[in-house]
Amino acid sequence: MTRMWCVDPELLCRQHLLGEHKELHQLVGHVRAGNTNAIHGHAERGQIDTSRVSARHRTLVAEMERRGYNHNSPLEYDDSLNVGNVDESANLVELRERCVDCQDRIDSANH
Ligand SMILES: [Zn+2]
Ligand SMILES: [Zn+2]
Repeated sequence: MTRMWCVDPELLCRQHLLGEHKELHQLVGHVRAGNTNAIHGHAERGQIDTSRVSARHRTLVAEMERRGYNHNSPLEYDDSLNVGNVDESANLVELRERCVDCQDRIDSANH
């Protein structure tokens, strides 16, 4: 599943940080392959915002590097689709419910 969380990357656990990063590359792969149905499906479910892909990739990579994770996958992407919208506040609530590791990070950031 492709999902751009778009929350503050410091709040993502390792798995969700690396997962969102990988999914950005997959999303761009779908765009390049012309898989429009997949892209519009994700967009309708509020999982992606193609206009934010490049900036989001830069943000995630900066956080990965800050944590000392490897990054060897430059992403060249010029958005011409401009589809989808992401609600990061709702995503933060969902991540917190879904993942104890993200929950720890979110709760300790609030103190
Ligand atoms: Zn990358
Ligand atoms: Zn997590």
